Amino acid sequence: MNVMEIFETMEYGPAPEAAAPGLAWIKEHEPFGLYINNQWVKPASGQYIESINPATGKQLTKVAAANGADVDVAVAAARTAYETWGKTPGHVRARYMYAIARHIQKHSRLLAVLESLDNGKPIRETRDIDIPLVARHFYYYAGWAQLMESQLRDYQPVGVVGQIIPWNFPLLMLAWKIAPALAMGNTVVLKPARYTSLTALKFAEIMQEIDLPPGVVNILTGEASQVGEALVRHPDVNKIAFTGSTDVGRSIRRTTAGSGKKLSLELGGKSPFIVFDDADLDSVVEGVVDAIWFNQGQVCCAGSRLLVQENIANRLIEKLRVRMEHLRIGNPLDKAVDIGAIVSPGQLKEIQRLVNQGVEEGAVMWQPSWACPIEGYFFPPTLFTNVSPATTIAQVEIFGPVLVSMTFRTPAEAVELANNTRYGLAASVWSDNINLALDVAPKLKAGSVWINCTNLFDASSGFGGYRESGFGREGGKEGLYEYVRPKWETQETPLEALHIAKNSTSSNGSEPNEDEDGETAFQDLAFGSSNGHLATLPAIDRTPKMFIGGKQARPDSGYSRDIYDPQGHMIGQVGEGNRKDIRNAVEAAHAASGWAVGTTHNRAQILYYIAENLSIREDEFARRIVQQTGRPYADAVSEVQVSISRLFSYAAWADKFEGVVHRPPIRGAVLAMPEAIGVMAIACPEEYPLLGFISLVAPAIAMGNTLVVVPSQQSPLSATDCYQVLETSDLPNGVVNVVTGASDTLSQVLADHDDVDAMWYFGSAEGCKNVELASAGNMKRTWVNYGHPRNWLDPVQGEGEEFLRESTQVKNIWIPYGE
Ligand code: NDP
Repeated sequence: MNVMEIFETMEYGPAPEAAAPGLAWIKEHEPFGLYINNQWVKPASGQYIESINPATGKQLTKVAAANGADVDVAVAAARTAYETWGKTPGHVRARYMYAIARHIQKHSRLLAVLESLDNGKPIRETRDIDIPLVARHFYYYAGWAQLMESQLRDYQPVGVVGQIIPWNFPLLMLAWKIAPALAMGNTVVLKPARYTSLTALKFAEIMQEIDLPPGVVNILTGEASQVGEALVRHPDVNKIAFTGSTDVGRSIRRTTAGSGKKLSLELGGKSPFIVFDDADLDSVVEGVVDAIWFNQGQVCCAGSRLLVQENIANRLIEKLRVRMEHLRIGNPLDKAVDIGAIVSPGQLKEIQRLVNQGVEEGAVMWQPSWACPIEGYFFPPTLFTNVSPATTIAQVEIFGPVLVSMTFRTPAEAVELANNTRYGLAASVWSDNINLALDVAPKLKAGSVWINCTNLFDASSGFGGYRESGFGREGGKEGLYEYVRPKWETQETPLEALHIAKNSTSSNGSEPNEDEDGETAFQDLAFGSSNGHLATLPAIDRTPKMFIGGKQARPDSGYSRDIYDPQGHMIGQVGEGNRKDIRNAVEAAHAASGWAVGTTHNRAQILYYIAENLSIREDEFARRIVQQTGRPYADAVSEVQVSISRLFSYAAWADKFEGVVHRPPIRGAVLAMPEAIGVMAIACPEEYPLLGFISLVAPAIAMGNTLVVVPSQQSPLSATDCYQVLETSDLPNGVVNVVTGASDTLSQVLADHDDVDAMWYFGSAEGCKNVELASAGNMKRTWVNYGHPRNWLDPVQGEGEEFLRESTQVKNIWIPYGE
C-alpha cells in the first residue's frame, strides 16, 4: 500500500517493530539457566520447558525447569544474603534500586519486544505502559528505601520472600513484587509464570549488571508443581506474595495456614464498569476499549461487566459495536494493533468454552465482522447483551476480550448489581455528575474505583482486592506493610512477663482479703461483703448471658459452662455458645452495617462514652479480674486503667486514621481511603480478660466494623460484664456481639462462615492454623498470633496503627480532572 492509497482509504499501514534484537538476545543466552546467587546455574532436573510465541504458536526458546532442590539452594542463598541486605542502610539499598530503574530504562525497548514476543501483548502496551511502569516502581520504591529509617522506624524487614507471579503482566508483576521487597530490606526468590519467563531472565541479567549483592534476588523458572509449590512450602521462607487465580490463591492460603508465613494474595476479579445516563458516551466507549480489550482482557481488574443505565443502553451498545468493528487484531509487534494474542492454547480454549456457555445460557453474542489471524492464538473482541446477572458469564472471570452487559435503572440498583459478585478488585464509574460518582464510589466493594477512567495504575497508589479478590495491597505506602513486621516481634516475650500467672497471690497487702492460710478469698471479692449481716444472705444469682443484636441472649444449646477461679472454685457460669448463636450474631452484625457509614466523630464519641462508663466501674472490673485470674488487685486495677486509656486511644484515632491523597503522574488525584472491612470475628486472648477484649474490640469498631467476639474461654466474665457498659454507652445494637463458650470451637465456626469478612484469632498455634485453613473458604482476611503472646499492657505491642490497618482495607479512588 502506498502513501496515496493510505490517504484515500485512511487504512492503517503496517508499522512493525523489529523482532530481531529480541530474538538475537534469546539466541545469545541459550541455554537459559536459573539465576541463583548472581550465577546462572543449570537446573538440578536437567530439564527445560518450552516458551511459545503466542502470536505464531511456534517455540521461541526453552527455559530451565527448576525443582525443589533448586528452590532449597535459592532460598539458602537468599537467607545468607538477608543477613547483610536486611541490615544494609536504606540509602545504599536506594542506590541499587535507582540503578535498577535506570537500567530498565536503558534496556526498555528490548524488554518491550521480549515481552510482546513471549506474552503476545501489543508492543504499544509493553512499550508505553508495562515497561515505563516497571521503571517507575523501582524509582518510587528507591525513595521508600531511602526513607525507611525515618518513616518506618518501628519496622524491620520480614526476611526471605517467595514471590509467584502470573503471565499477564510478566515484568510489571515482577516489579510490583520485587521493588517494595528490596526497599524494605528483604531478599527474594521469584518464580515467573511458565509461559512468560523471558523478561524476568533479562531482569536477572540487569541485576548482574548493576552488581546487586549475590542472593538478594534469585529467579527460578519452571513449573508450578515443581517450583511454586516448593516455594510455598519451604520452611525458611518468611512470606509468600502471589498474584494469580483465586483457586491457586486459596490453595496457597491452605498450605501456608499455621506456618507463620506472611501472605498477600492478589487474585481474580469480575469488575463492574458502571455508566450513568449523563456520561460522555464517546469517552465511555474509549474507556470500555481500555477496560476489556487492553491486554486482550487478560487483566485481573478488567472492566468485564458493563452496567449501563437503561435509557442509554441501546445508544451505547450501538456505538460500541461501531468501535469494535474498527479494532485491529494481529501481530503484537505491529504498532498499529489494538489486540494481540491470547497467551496460550489452554487459555484460548477456556475463553471459547465460557463464550459457548454464555450463548447456551441465552445471552446474545456479538463479534465484529472481520476474522482473526489463523496462525497463533487469537480471540475476537466479544460483546454479550441480554445477560442475566446470575448466569455463568456474568459471574465467572473469563480472562479474555469478552464483555457482558446488563442494565440498571437507579444508582441503588447499579450498586447492587456491581456488588453482586464474589470478587472485589476494581470498579469504574462514569458520570458527568461528580456528586453522583463520589456517592457511588464508597458503596462499591472494590479495592480500586476509577471515576471516568479505568485501568490506571501507579507505584504511588495501592492496588488489591476485597473479598475473593484477595488481601494485602501492592503499591503506595500501604504496599510496604506487606514487607515489614514490627521491630518488637523478634523479642521473645517471656510468658512470666505477661502477668498471666494463674496462681499468684495478692501483693499489695490491703486488697484482696487473705484468709489464715494466706489463700485469697477470691469468691468473696466481687460480690461478697465484709458486712457480716449481708454475708449471711445468699447472693442474688447473676447470670452472664451472651450479647447478640443489643440483647442479652441465652445460649441456643441450653447448656452453661462453669467458670473457675485459679483455685478451682466455681465463680460463675456463662452460656455455651454454638453454631446457631454464631449464626444469629453474624446476622446481627450484618444488620448493624449502618455503623460503617456513620460519622467518625460519632464513633469517637461512643468510644469515649464506653471509657467513661468503664471508669465509673473501675473497682468492680478490677475485682472481677482478680477473681478470674488470681492476680494482685493493684495489677488488675492497672489492667482496667490501661483498658480505659486504650479506649481513649481509639476514640482519638477514630477520626484521625484518614488515608492519603496520592499524586500519580496524571492530572488528577487518587484518594486512598481506609474503609471498614465489614463483619469481623474476634477470638480474644486468654490472658488479660478485659484488656485483651478491649484492645481488639476498640480499634475494630473505631474503624466502623461490626463484630462477633468470642471472649477468653477461661475468663469470659470481664467481657460479659462489658456488655452492660456497652448497653449504657449508646453503641448501636449489633455492633458488638459477644458469644461465650469453647473458644476454638466457636472460632472454627466463625472462620468457616461465608458471611464473616475477616477474622482475628489470638490463641494457640494450632487454633491459628485452623483459622487460616478455614478462612480459604471465602478468602476472608485473617490476623493471627501463631501462638505467640503479646504484652497487651505495652502500648507498642497492644495498640496502634497495626491494629487500625488490620481493621481496614484501603480503597483507591482515582479522580482525573481537567477538560
Ligand atoms: P495460576 O494462578 O495457575 O498461575 C499464576 C502463577 O502461580 C504462575 O506462576 C503459576 O505457575 C503459579 N502457580 C500455579 N499453581 C501453583 C501452586 N499450586 N503453587 C504455587 N504456584 C502456583 O493462573 P493460570 O496461569 O493457570 O491462569 C488461570 C486463570 O487464573 C486465568 O484464566 C485467570 O482467570 C486467572 N489469573 C488471574 C491473574 C491475576 O492477575 N489475578 C493472572 C493470571 C491468571 P505456572 O505458570 O508454572 O503454572
